[in-house]
Amino acid sequence: MIRINENYLKLKPSYLFSEISTRVAAFQEANPAKEIIRLGIGDVTRALPKACIDAFHKAVDEMAFDSTFKGYGPEQGYAFLREKIALSDYQARGADIRSDEIFVSDGAKGDTANIQEIFSADIRIAIPDPVYPVYLDTNVMAGRAGNPDDGRYSAIVYLDSTDKNHFIPDLPKENVDLIYLCFPNNPTGATITKDQLKPFVDYARQNKALILYDAAYEAFIKDENLPRSIYEIEGAREVAIEFRSFSKTAGFTGTRCAFTVVPKDCRAYDAAGKKHLLHAFWNRRQTTKFNGVSYPVQKAAEAIYSDAGTIQVKELIHYYMNNASLIRQSMQSLGYACAGGENSPYIWVKTGLDSWEFFDMLLNKAGVVCTPGAGFGRCGQGYIRISAFNSHENVARAMEKIMKI
Ligand code: PLP
Repeated sequence: MIRINENYLKLKPSYLFSEISTRVAAFQEANPAKEIIRLGIGDVTRALPKACIDAFHKAVDEMAFDSTFKGYGPEQGYAFLREKIALSDYQARGADIRSDEIFVSDGAKGDTANIQEIFSADIRIAIPDPVYPVYLDTNVMAGRAGNPDDGRYSAIVYLDSTDKNHFIPDLPKENVDLIYLCFPNNPTGATITKDQLKPFVDYARQNKALILYDAAYEAFIKDENLPRSIYEIEGAREVAIEFRSFSKTAGFTGTRCAFTVVPKDCRAYDAAGKKHLLHAFWNRRQTTKFNGVSYPVQKAAEAIYSDAGTIQVKELIHYYMNNASLIRQSMQSLGYACAGGENSPYIWVKTGLDSWEFFDMLLNKAGVVCTPGAGFGRCGQGYIRISAFNSHENVARAMEKIMKI
């Protein structure tokens, strides 16, 4: 008898975006003439930078001739891309990361989902609340989360991120083996300083724990004093794996390219307490289960680091951050406390109402779609997330409509 993985039965239905779609469809049917502006789902709206498109085209043309055609590439990514990443994203900022510590992939979603399989089934995990749902759900699937209990899972240590701690969770009070962190944060938009990040690195070193650091929104950091990488913190190489993505940085959500950094001295332990290096484990996992990102896509990603690409990506980020400022200012002028939007594309708005009630109010009265914070965890209740990923015209019109309510 074929049997299922019963851990899947413990998953909460992922109804957030389907419920949003249902409510938006009902509104549209009842009000066919009304305009709807979507500031909900975190997908980008602007085209790939020209430098990326040019490189993409050129690489596709190379595939047309036997002499330049590329078959399977290295599972870890082509050296031309890994070297640019190591140099520009790390060494230029004083972070000691080398190109052979970078694993190019087709997305940070897959990497943050898959990484847990190199760890034991009985480790104790700390996950922030609210959270990008992938970290939690993949551990539920793997049987590490325990049982659902009043909206949470019995074996997970939740790191509450609330306005009381400015959306930077406290260190876990109990011993944990694995800590997920995400900065700039989805959904709260919060960022972390070096002084705030250092205690997490120290905790991991003292407790033989590991940090999984999701920096998918790093490119939106404007404040030069904020760390863009956990490897800007001393001692992080041994205790942290970092995830990055070109999705939001350069509009690659549909093109798919990202990378994960596993430093060669990053370690974990077996049951006997013997140390093992995770680079070899992740390399083994990737070479067994993944055949690399297509050559044209990696060429398009490489172009982000060219002179023209650097300028174009800056313009792209600036465009969305201009939207973010407008959203933040508009919501604050209406008296709502906001996090995010200064070094991140998400604005986390404290509504004073139930998240879904406020969602319905914005939809019905202004035709604006946001994301109810309760969908990201218990601590998201009472909040909504507004995304800066839309045209400036749409964002400006959405804010005007909200101001008129
Ligand atoms: N990590 C975070 C925090 C995200 O918000 C997202 C996408 O929304 C991802 C990872 C996934 O990125 P990718 O498109 O590279 O799979």
